[in-house]
Amino acid sequence: MKHDTQYDVVGVGVGPANLSLAALLHPVADAKALFLEARDDFAWHPGLLMYGSTLQSPYLKDLVTLVDPCNPFSFFNFLVKSRRAYRFLVADPPAVSRHEFAAYYRWAAHALPSVRFSSPVRSVRFEDGAFSIETAGAATVRSRHLVLGSGAQPFVPPHMKALLGPKAFHATNFLDREPDLAGKTVAVIGGGQTGAEIVQRLLGPRSGGPAHVMWVTRRPNFLPLDESPFANEYFTPAYADYFYSLPAETRIALNDQQKYASDGVSEKLLEQIYQRLYEIDFIEGDTLGYELLAGRELVAAEHAAGGVRLKLQTEHSSEERHADIVVFCTGYKHGLPDYMSAFKPLIEHDGTGTPVVRQDFSLAWAREATNRIFVHGMARNFRGVAEPNLGLMSWRSGNIVNALASRPVYDLATVPSPVSWPKVPHPPASPEVVAQQQQQQHYPTGNAVGSSALSRAPGAV
Ligand SMILES: Cc1cc2nc3c(=O)[nH]c(=O)nc-3n(C[C@H](O)[C@H](O)[C@H](O)COP(=O)(O)OP(=O)(O)OC[C@H]3O[C@@H](n4cnc5c(N)ncnc54)[C@H](O)[C@@H]3O)c2cc1C
Repeated sequence: MKHDTQYDVVGVGVGPANLSLAALLHPVADAKALFLEARDDFAWHPGLLMYGSTLQSPYLKDLVTLVDPCNPFSFFNFLVKSRRAYRFLVADPPAVSRHEFAAYYRWAAHALPSVRFSSPVRSVRFEDGAFSIETAGAATVRSRHLVLGSGAQPFVPPHMKALLGPKAFHATNFLDREPDLAGKTVAVIGGGQTGAEIVQRLLGPRSGGPAHVMWVTRRPNFLPLDESPFANEYFTPAYADYFYSLPAETRIALNDQQKYASDGVSEKLLEQIYQRLYEIDFIEGDTLGYELLAGRELVAAEHAAGGVRLKLQTEHSSEERHADIVVFCTGYKHGLPDYMSAFKPLIEHDGTGTPVVRQDFSLAWAREATNRIFVHGMARNFRGVAEPNLGLMSWRSGNIVNALASRPVYDLATVPSPVSWPKVPHPPASPEVVAQQQQQQHYPTGNAVGSSALSRAPGAV
């Protein structure tokens, strides 16, 4: 089998997360890095990239700016290089279009020499002190360290999986399936941002849309994203570090309490949907039917009468509805990707069955002393609700660069939060855990990528 030369680090998947890492590694001269992407070109959730949809975070939370504002792969440099910076400033959009951010990401992906497209990773093995990464139809790549950036898997409740097919599908491919919806009764399941964006589109004043739209959520209402300043503190490195210091049960409970700082619907979008319903009811007449079904959990569904019969449970009773098409906006789940299945027995898991993620975003696994497996987006149990989003992405990548280099290439020190979060004592640790913690240091020695240590990056400390 043909082998490439060995890399210091190989990243699997080129979405925003590994792109951020590639951009922050770019100025580090002696890092031999490769990022493998399955697709033939960059795309950012293309099945949900609807015109009018906007970022739910400020554009300064781009690939690099919050860690290294002098890095050439900032959003603002994209605006300047694509000669639209003055127009952007005059237009002054309240939120940046997701289309424009996807174009920015594509621009960065094309400019970064470490990115290789058309390289779906099929499996990873550990052989002779390094990872062997097998890509479909191409050379097997060897690397000392690995970074998993292949994203989350679309989630559908397990008891609904048998239903999946032309009549019921996950929102991730929504735009491909949209033409099938003309004149139909469509049920959208899920009261989060994706459900809201799809409902807004289905209710839009366009010909060729559905005849009737049902929006079902088990939440008690169509609830907004909490974007208030103190909730936004959860999206800061200081809070993510505080969160990491807490006992496991406290972290799990906080994630539940803080859900709407990450999983609600942007208030602007809720306003737009409400205004559209007003137009439908009082201005345009009743050409388009709709039902907003709050406080209903979809507990069962089956194929019936050419469509799907839905059983919805409220707190006190159950109801039935019929839909021609069901769109599941039921989120995504992060877990160990299939191509890593050989590593499952070698990786430590927490009490919820989630892989344990260290402070430097590497997995706790059998060979971590010499070969790290870093992860993006998988540390929600350890870092809080911000983890799967863009907000702390560049900071996480900065942490990974520093850990790879075994020294602080980037200065990631931040001011503490204005809020004094409560200290929570840990239950006493067992002697095995104490020994393990002593072994685990933030920047383990002898682990640097490149020859001895990484060259000093421009703009880095
Ligand atoms: C529609 C949508 C909009 C969002 N908008 C925001 C927002 O505005 N603000 C915010 O903070 N968060 C947002 N998020 C959440 C989060 O920021 C995004 O999901 C983000 O794309 C996560 O980046 P990622 O790189 O981890 O994963 P992904 O973007 O999913 O990228 C993973 C990449 O890995 C590739 N891949 C998968 N398997 C393999 C393999 N075996 N081999 C090689 N390549 C592989 C995929 O093709 C893909 O390109 C949004 C999420 C969704 C679904």
